[in-house]
Amino acid sequence: RAKEEGRNSFQLYQPAMNARSLEHLALETALHGALQRDQLLLHFQPLVRADTGEPVAVEALLRWQHPELGLVSPADFISLAEETGLIVPIGEWVLRHACLCHGRWREDERAPLRMMVNISARQFRQEGFVEMVGRVLHETEMEPSLLTLELTESMLMDDTEASVLRMQKLRELGVSLALDDFGTGYSSLAYLKDFPIDELKIDRLFVRGIDRNMRDAALASAIISLGHSLGLRVVAEGVETRAHLDVLQRHGCDLAQGFHFSKPLPWQTFVAMYGKASAQAVPGSSACQAAR
Ligand code: C2E
Ligand code: MG
Ligand code: MG
Ligand code: MG
Repeated sequence: RAKEEGRNSFQLYQPAMNARSLEHLALETALHGALQRDQLLLHFQPLVRADTGEPVAVEALLRWQHPELGLVSPADFISLAEETGLIVPIGEWVLRHACLCHGRWREDERAPLRMMVNISARQFRQEGFVEMVGRVLHETEMEPSLLTLELTESMLMDDTEASVLRMQKLRELGVSLALDDFGTGYSSLAYLKDFPIDELKIDRLFVRGIDRNMRDAALASAIISLGHSLGLRVVAEGVETRAHLDVLQRHGCDLAQGFHFSKPLPWQTFVAMYGKASAQAVPGSSACQAAR
């Protein structure tokens, strides 16, 4: 009897496992198909000078236009893409399309915007990653100095020596590097001095309360000073209000990004607001032309 009970509980447990892995598999298959069916797209959010509000850069943010689920946020599928390794082809797609889209509006601009692209841990560690970046730059005729790759602290900590080496190779290509979500990772300041980065992006966690909470403001101010003393440009993420901006300006923050200036926008809207008339469709890609 005990044996039967044991089997019953085993059987009860089993279907749940299957359902979960089936769900996982279904999403994985769907995500795999998303790349082939052209369901991935980029939204673009400007980064502005904190003192003047002048746009100086733009971050490409990935979206998945799912036929039933609608627009899926990267928070809901990036980790799955990481686990399954799909982030490698997806990440390459993001980089290529960001560069292609950039080419469509850069020609007429007096001061071209820098393009910022998020890189995931698995992608960064992938054999041949640096070569891939070089190839995409070449194929899309992207000006390397106008590309910034966003890395996170946690992905650099695993093997710092190898990370630093890879970062140096990326810089040799002419691209610049930003440390994204700064303050939320391991934040070992000892390592910060070794990372060959150009820019620090303060996570919005630290920006949220700066107008109301003295400790938050003190922390943001300290991060800005730290960045500046290391010769880095400092960006504040998640700037949602005029009050946030006021505090950041007072502390000499260089750039700001957030809903106060603009939400991430579909390609056409972004170009209409920040580009020039010459922005055209990219041949063979619906990612930059579709008004979605
Ligand atoms: P992130 O790189 O830190 O990007 C900033 C996130 O904050 C974006 O969320 C953006 O929409 C959101 N945001 C911008 N301004 C504000 C604001 O004022 N208030 C608030 N509450 N949020 C704001 P999103 O687009 O959902 O992306 C989430 C994360 O997904 C990104 O965080 C990044 O880590 C990851 N991600 C996005 N695109 C890619 C990609 O192409 N590749 C990889 N590997 N990761 C990506
Ligand atoms: Mg980012
Ligand atoms: Mg960020
Ligand atoms: Mg963030």
